[in-house]
Amino acid sequence: MDTLTQSRRQIATKKSDQFDLIIIGGGPAGLASAIKAKQLNLDVLVIEKALFGGNLLNIAMINDYLGFPDQISGKELSVKIIEQFKSEKIDFKYEEVMQLNKDKSFEVITDKASYHSKAVIIASGTQNRKLSAVGEEKYYGRGVSYCAPCDAVFFKDKHVIVAGNNERAIKSAILLTNYCQKVSLFTVKTYLNISEDLKSDLKANKKIEIFLNHRIEEILGNESVEKFIIKNLENNKLFYYQAEAIFIYVGVLPENFFVPKGLSTSEKGYLDCDKEMQTAIPGLFVAGDIRNSFIKKVSTAIADGIIAASSAYHYLSLH
Ligand SMILES: Cc1cc2nc3c(=O)[nH]c(=O)nc-3n(C[C@H](O)[C@H](O)[C@H](O)COP(=O)(O)OP(=O)(O)OC[C@H]3O[C@@H](n4cnc5c(N)ncnc54)[C@H](O)[C@@H]3O)c2cc1C
Repeated sequence: MDTLTQSRRQIATKKSDQFDLIIIGGGPAGLASAIKAKQLNLDVLVIEKALFGGNLLNIAMINDYLGFPDQISGKELSVKIIEQFKSEKIDFKYEEVMQLNKDKSFEVITDKASYHSKAVIIASGTQNRKLSAVGEEKYYGRGVSYCAPCDAVFFKDKHVIVAGNNERAIKSAILLTNYCQKVSLFTVKTYLNISEDLKSDLKANKKIEIFLNHRIEEILGNESVEKFIIKNLENNKLFYYQAEAIFIYVGVLPENFFVPKGLSTSEKGYLDCDKEMQTAIPGLFVAGDIRNSFIKKVSTAIADGIIAASSAYHYLSLH
């Protein structure tokens, strides 16, 4: 009897906190690896701290995803992927992973419980980088947002700000003009870091006003955001600026606080692995945006997830 068949037999009598494979994160990488692992007959648990779909929910329109020549919104694609995930009847928990230990097996400690498995895939992606403006935390959910597709609808016919100079910021500003009366784009940089195509879309959009070389210092309001204190970095003058929300797109950071100490990472904290998605700890795999990789896209996250699940299956069949 091979090891996998043995472990499958043990599942019949296993404790409810024991699995072949635990996947941390329910974004595209985590969901793809869960579906693949289930198809390989592994006993899988997915742990997601917030919403299944992850950053997919933050994408207005995806224009380079195979099979959708007319583009598809991140939300629509996530609905399809989550339906597929649900149809596989995979175990999942809405909990936050706080710590990951390895002794003989892995122990995954969440804010509510702890679970054990022989293999783990970390697919925890990225978190949004903060602007570090005064009031940012206070007004989160009351006019401070990191997700235009999720929150644009609450600011119909209002004047809002977008902070950032990257493609994600500009695409979000353009999306917001479908709802808002005016969108002001602020960046501390003196240039926009975007493609020529996007530059012409931006130029053609009369609802967007651009402020280069400006820093948002403070977010002010009462129940919700009402105005901002902004510094013109050219002359260092501060001024008040009225708008009812701010959408922040100033980059992302890896979600890695729970990973075992000593794992090799990039300078910014993205996890190193080999081409099978295996880290230096046997049985520990990574997939998606948390991985130290050059391209971070939905398609690469899904590919990583499938490779990681197949590698975990291979590892489990030998241990
Ligand atoms: C604004 C924006 C626009 C984008 N536009 C595009 C685009 O046009 N095209 C494209 O291909 N890609 C785009 N991307 C990138 C794409 O969203 C990511 O590459 C993809 O979502 C990565 O998937 P992932 O599963 O690795 O990580 P994520 O989508 O980040 O998912 C990680 C999941 O893990 C969960 N998690 C994190 N920590 C824990 C923990 N401790 N415990 C439990 N759960 C945890 C999170 O809640 C999240 O659901 C965009 C991203 C952003 C932010």
